[in-house]
Amino acid sequence: MLLDMSLMVGPAPGPRGWTVDPSRTDVRQVLPGVWCLRLPLAWPQLQHVNVWALAREGGGVVLVDSAMAGPGAWEALTGALRKAGGSVRDVHVLALTHAHADHVGLAARVVEESGCETWMHPGAEPFFAVVRDPGATESARARRAAREGVPERLLAAYASVEEEADGTHAPLRASHALVAGTVLSSAIGDWLAVETPGHAPSHVCLHQPEHRLLLAGDLLSRHFAPFFDYGWSADPVAEYLASLDAVSGLDVETVLPGHGAPLQDFGALVASHRAGVHDRLAAVRQALASGDAGGYELTRRIFGRPADVIVGVWQFAEVIAYLGHLRRTGEVVRREEADGTYAYARA
Ligand SMILES: [Zn+2]
Ligand SMILES: [Zn+2]
Repeated sequence: MLLDMSLMVGPAPGPRGWTVDPSRTDVRQVLPGVWCLRLPLAWPQLQHVNVWALAREGGGVVLVDSAMAGPGAWEALTGALRKAGGSVRDVHVLALTHAHADHVGLAARVVEESGCETWMHPGAEPFFAVVRDPGATESARARRAAREGVPERLLAAYASVEEEADGTHAPLRASHALVAGTVLSSAIGDWLAVETPGHAPSHVCLHQPEHRLLLAGDLLSRHFAPFFDYGWSADPVAEYLASLDAVSGLDVETVLPGHGAPLQDFGALVASHRAGVHDRLAAVRQALASGDAGGYELTRRIFGRPADVIVGVWQFAEVIAYLGHLRRTGEVVRREEADGTYAYARA
């Protein structure tokens, strides 16, 4: 489903296009009692997500994240749990690193089938509001995209909430709040929650101090690949930088990320992500040096022509977040043109 942007006139392909092959799972025990369930995603840009199964003292598991809903996805998750020697009924506790469809999509189904406790950050609410009322968010996103100069023919794709609404089995109500100081116990020891908003307002990492592990969700990845939910909090970029500061003081040897293999060299990894944000902010300043422009035009100046429309939408969201951050720091101003579109300029 690699899409040519010039051919793209409607929303991204829906759930049918998201069919995954349930046999395409990879299950590894990274240490006794800690399983990585690598589950397929149907996105060309991101082909799997990691769900973590942590054995509990006395039986049962803590499941961290749940993968995206869609044809074949439930079979992939349950098949992976079987390969790890369990089943969905062994899930006693479900913890969510953050409310994005690739991490919470199947969560409500896991709760239905297992009756487990659900631990999630209260910042997940805007995501599930989208799932409950996709139309309201689509209208708001279309209005914003138009003001940022997104061409008419691309507005539907930029407004689409299919990824959230169709990639999520059902809205999820947490039974417990996963917030700073929350402790989740497992057979290898306690995991302590650290709030790490920015990528999403609900983002939380779990730190296991004795084994020096950090379940990092989408805070860190092998290659700096940022994404920011915009419109749900004041300054996701500042939040993200503060989140990197918050984890940087932890004693961590191995990062267990939401996508990709476990990562070492924690200090360098955090530093590279911090530098990555500052490089992108510099790129935004540079793009503004060649003239005032709206968010869409600035995105194209920074990233060029995207590989497909979804990548373009992700890049746009990222640039909107940087522009919001630079407005708050006073470096950039935004004016409204006579036609209602926005133009950003260096202050
Ligand atoms: Zn995410
Ligand atoms: Zn993710």
